[in-house]
Amino acid sequence: DPRLQGISEAIRVVPHFPKPGIMFQDITTLLLDHKAFKDTVDIFVDRYRDMDISVVAGVEARGFMFGPAIALAIGAKFVPLRKPRKLPGKVISEAYELEYGTDCLEMHVGAVKPGERAIVIDDLVATGGTLSAAIRLLERSEAEVVECACVIGLREVKGQLRIAVNYRSLSMKML
Ligand code: IMP
Repeated sequence: DPRLQGISEAIRVVPHFPKPGIMFQDITTLLLDHKAFKDTVDIFVDRYRDMDISVVAGVEARGFMFGPAIALAIGAKFVPLRKPRKLPGKVISEAYELEYGTDCLEMHVGAVKPGERAIVIDDLVATGGTLSAAIRLLERSEAEVVECACVIGLREVKGQLRIAVNYRSLSMKML
């Protein structure tokens, strides 16, 4: 796809953020580039529009920057998967492992109905731990996770992905 190169070039890599040794993939520069931003959303919309998807679940915070645009374009609802204690209603929670320690994602009870077909979106997949927690939240609610969609996949860890469903990423980056 000729659009992928422009998308990849619009992502800024910031060395040593948020700590020494990390090459941070910064999608805020992609959001500043109208063509690259639109191409990113369009590629996902082209893929998912005829797949009978009724739920786009976005992972806080950068999944919120792409998910709603995709949801509106394909006629689906948007469900935010949030960090702990942000959602005001009754929630279900799933913990996941980070490099140091654990974190947790929460989803409102009743946000999805049993049998609904869902995709999960985030900016970047590294180990797949975050996406796995997102998948578990949706599956506990008896939604069917059709696929996970990410803007960036880190090639280095792709082989170790622990996610149970297919995922697509638009841009493969070396760490
Ligand atoms: P994983 O759970 O190991 O797959 O890590 C993916 C999560 O970490 C996603 O929610 C990303 O937003 C975040 N993340 C890890 N590295 C980066 C990065 O370089 N840029 C932006 N987000 C990152």
